[in-house]
Amino acid sequence: MKTVQLLNYALDSWTPGGGQLAEIASAIDGSPVATTSSGGLDFGGMLKHAREVGGPALRKLTFHERARMLKALGQAIMARKEELYELNYLTGATRKDGWIDIEGGAGTLFSFSSKGRRELPDAHVLMDGALEPLSKNGTFVGQHIYTSLQGAAVHINAFNFPVWGMLEKLAPTLLAGVPAIVKPASATAYLTEAAFRVMIESGVLPTGAVQLIVGGVGDLFDHLTGQDVVSFTGSASTALKLRTHPVVMRESVRFIAEQDSLNASVLGPDAAPGTPEFDLFVREVAIEMTVKAGQKCTAIRRAMAPAQYLDAVQEALADRLASTKVGDPRAEDTRMGALVSTAQREDVRQKIAELEAAGARIVAGDPAAEPALAGGAFLSPVLLRADDPWATQAVHDVEPFGPVSTIMPYRDMDDAIALANRGKGSLALSLFTLSPDAAQEFVRGAAAYHGRMLVIDRTNHKESTGHGSPLPVLVHGGPGRAGGGEEMGGIRGVKHYMQRTAIQSSPTMIAAITGQYVPGGPKHVIDVHPFRLKMSELNIGDTWETPSRTVSVQDIEHFAEFTGDKFYAHMDEEAAKASPIFEGRVAHGYLILSFAAGLFVDPDPGPVLANTGLENLRFLTPLYPGDSLRVELTVRSKSIKSEETGQVRWAVEVYNQKDELVATYDLLTENVP
Ligand code: NDP
Repeated sequence: MKTVQLLNYALDSWTPGGGQLAEIASAIDGSPVATTSSGGLDFGGMLKHAREVGGPALRKLTFHERARMLKALGQAIMARKEELYELNYLTGATRKDGWIDIEGGAGTLFSFSSKGRRELPDAHVLMDGALEPLSKNGTFVGQHIYTSLQGAAVHINAFNFPVWGMLEKLAPTLLAGVPAIVKPASATAYLTEAAFRVMIESGVLPTGAVQLIVGGVGDLFDHLTGQDVVSFTGSASTALKLRTHPVVMRESVRFIAEQDSLNASVLGPDAAPGTPEFDLFVREVAIEMTVKAGQKCTAIRRAMAPAQYLDAVQEALADRLASTKVGDPRAEDTRMGALVSTAQREDVRQKIAELEAAGARIVAGDPAAEPALAGGAFLSPVLLRADDPWATQAVHDVEPFGPVSTIMPYRDMDDAIALANRGKGSLALSLFTLSPDAAQEFVRGAAAYHGRMLVIDRTNHKESTGHGSPLPVLVHGGPGRAGGGEEMGGIRGVKHYMQRTAIQSSPTMIAAITGQYVPGGPKHVIDVHPFRLKMSELNIGDTWETPSRTVSVQDIEHFAEFTGDKFYAHMDEEAAKASPIFEGRVAHGYLILSFAAGLFVDPDPGPVLANTGLENLRFLTPLYPGDSLRVELTVRSKSIKSEETGQVRWAVEVYNQKDELVATYDLLTENVP
């Protein structure tokens, strides 16, 4: 393969770095793959470009437009994935490892795209929580909102997932409407650059939305402001250096870190040898040691078992690891490829030596062995054992970032919890148990130290996504030693790139600011039934007022007979009167809903296709026989899902003859756009 110089993408053009070029070697045989440099880039200018060109262009788009952009980016990656798989092998990764990185990366874009269209409004402002009443007459209210930060996101990524690592940060950032500057780790920057190129060539992104630095970041940090976000994945030492940069501290730059983590997996006290949970535990530890050659931030570094089962765990794990074929990642029968570089292998060997010096002993594998191709960064899996994990602090501190794990005994549940927490904060923990009591005790004792926890047993393992897989819909990150940051987690992750602001004003102003109807906000009464209008013809605040109907005792009794709901409050005048809530028999809440629908529904086929649910239902005032009810149906918000369908959220307000609110809820309908 020809050595190429990787290019930076700055100010919307591909730019070679000047000065000294760093060489990147293949993990398989040490041959040169690419050279790289970011020398001569105007880092301050790149930030300015992101803020002044990329940000405004992204902020013009609604959440849904940005979500559709993410989907198109994912499709572009998938269409050219084979080019990326070819480069993936050079990082030492097998095709299966590459699948996590490349297709897992595209999958993350798809997931955020779909969440964005389902959970965010087709608007620019995201409301956070409900309106807070702040005054007696309701003229002065509070509403929290999120808006896009107006700076740039600086993404500094680790070497181990060159594609996914970039995309899992870009997805929430772009959905939030914030431009990004991506800096991949040098060791695998050629794969990131290729995936980045696919995104640029797709033509989907607005100008200035993304830029790429292949090499050092120069004086970039000197130009950061309080509207920027740094999102970092890598070692604790680099994280510390960057988060204490004087400009980061002075400007209160948001800093999200995901760093070293001594993740644990725990065999439950009930999971004796011979149980499915025992076998699942052994399998999971072996998988986590060998997938991506153990170079995963979530990999299991500490495997804990009840003391009496530790020998059996050791034997079963050693057996499994012995059959792991280490070799050329391009070969079909290879189970584990190479580490990213010979330097990384040296680092792992040194960390193993530190663990040994602290008292752990190797019980399977040989760190000195160099399987497979000459010049490559191959290493066989190495299993250590620490018989006294309380006296061997290093097993909770030193992270060999490779195919290495340490088994250790625990005495009882309290001991297991304390040992797990001794990692001082981890990204992921798995517990293998069939006992709900054990699960409850363990999670309550250890959740504060862990970002994600899996409880695995014979009933869920087949569908389990595994200990080591961060998922776009779940939080990825962990407290303390793991960096204290959070990424992804669905829409939670988007909010890291947005500012939450408390707005205090009148309902009319809140409606104008958010572009959504809020209770007490302006309504426009319309005279065409809204079920006859397409979404494009409906406006926020459009209101349909129904005539009223009276509810009789016969109606209540008929409903009770018909549905079988003969609760005392509807059927027994004396008992209802005796209750502290009612003055006598009342209409069923469900009867009120049914009559409300009967009043506001327009029956013929038309642009409203289906009722898909009710949310936030509250019954506020009892409705007595002889009372009447009427409905105001108001368009609260709209979101178009595709060319064929969209969702309208209607505010439904049911009033009695005294104009008191009887019930309120949101009605969701599937509509023709
Ligand atoms: P580093 O912290 O050295 O590198 C991580 C990223 O930071 C890379 O993109 C690197 O770029 C960049 N970087 C390094 N120094 C600076 C700086 N001064 N300013 C700006 N950016 C900088 O980690 P490594 O990737 O070398 O891995 C080392 C160890 O980190 C591993 O052995 C492992 O223990 C841990 N790690 C943890 C991961 C996790 O997800 N939790 C993932 C990967 C590693 P460049 O490559 O160009 O130096």
